[in-house]
Amino acid sequence: MYNTKAYAAVSATSPLSSTTIDRRDLTEHDVQIEILFCGVCHSDLHSVRNEWGGTVYPIVPGHEIVGRVTEVGSAVTKYKPGDLAAIGCMVDSDLTCPHCKVGLEQFCQNVILTYNSPDKHLGGVTYGGYSNSIVADERFVLRVPDNLDLAGVAPLLCAGITTYSPLRHWGVTEGKKVGVVGLGGLGHMAVKFAHAFGAHVVVFTTSPDKTEDALRLGADEVVVSRNAEEMQKHAGSFDFILDTVSAKHDINAYLNLLRLDGNITLVGAPEKPLDVAAFSLIMARRSLSGSSIGGIAETQEMLDFCGKHNITADVEVVPIQKVNEAYERLLKSDVKYRFVIDMASLKSE
Ligand code: NAP
Ligand code: ZN
Repeated sequence: MYNTKAYAAVSATSPLSSTTIDRRDLTEHDVQIEILFCGVCHSDLHSVRNEWGGTVYPIVPGHEIVGRVTEVGSAVTKYKPGDLAAIGCMVDSDLTCPHCKVGLEQFCQNVILTYNSPDKHLGGVTYGGYSNSIVADERFVLRVPDNLDLAGVAPLLCAGITTYSPLRHWGVTEGKKVGVVGLGGLGHMAVKFAHAFGAHVVVFTTSPDKTEDALRLGADEVVVSRNAEEMQKHAGSFDFILDTVSAKHDINAYLNLLRLDGNITLVGAPEKPLDVAAFSLIMARRSLSGSSIGGIAETQEMLDFCGKHNITADVEVVPIQKVNEAYERLLKSDVKYRFVIDMASLKSE
């Protein structure tokens, strides 16, 4: 066991602050990574403030982790000290269940998330990436393409895979009309991917000042969702809509934009339930689904795709001392388009 610096919250109403946590000594399959950058996901905020229930304190959030390998266990084959490496939302699963066997570890009943999951090595719960060092099984460590800006890579580990996976699953390709609801961390990655897959992309935003950015990121059209008339123009026309909104909103307004057999997939996870009017679904055999991150193999596929197509997140790099401020700005939809913590700032605490 060794110590590393971290930022933790001790209750749902406390700010994150500096602390020291334990990390395990390496077992044979483990990789130790010095964390260079960690993205700030809205899920970190939901968890820190216990909006979904089940948060164990202290919590060290962070599941968009990139860094450099510092040490490897004796049986590790994929990594050596000095390599770039990344960790996303999961650090373990049972690897034997039907989901794990087909590369859908995120749906394993025994999945261990990067933070706030039972830690079978040290007891207590797992601690995430708002820290200087982490240890994980090499099967949950990802290779990072070496041509990409590292700060911009970090958000790919959650915002990237969470949008890439459902866009692939629902067959988003050239000729499809695709909506992205909410232009935040997830939303801006969805726009980049849907555009790269050749779709006609329409962004729905509550922030009119994001219009120009949306077009620059790859949107073909932008709709200010509070304008009912503009919304109505798109009624019954979408093949697929990805909803990334983090707070309660009217999903029927979007269901009604789907064509026959169209699908809307929720990746946003608001604290409060959404109301669905039966007729929004019934009238055009529409469907409403959800999606959770993506499996390890698909996450690697996504990173390799990003390397090939030069895709990274648009980031605002902040020192860890500004993380509480970043949370307040997230709540105001004031993020362009992902906060990423430069973990060097924690070393000087
Ligand atoms: P984010 O950066 O805060 O973006 C959310 C965006 O939603 C905002 O920028 C805003 O976009 C829009 N929005 C916020 N409040 C709204 C409201 N009251 N009404 C309408 N639109 C609103 O958050 P994120 O990190 O992208 O995460 C988004 C959600 O996905 C969170 O709930 C998060 O927990 C969840 N998530 C799920 C998964 C998964 O596996 N399913 C993975 C990661 C995150 P505009 O300004 O454009 O309107
Ligand atoms: Zn996340």
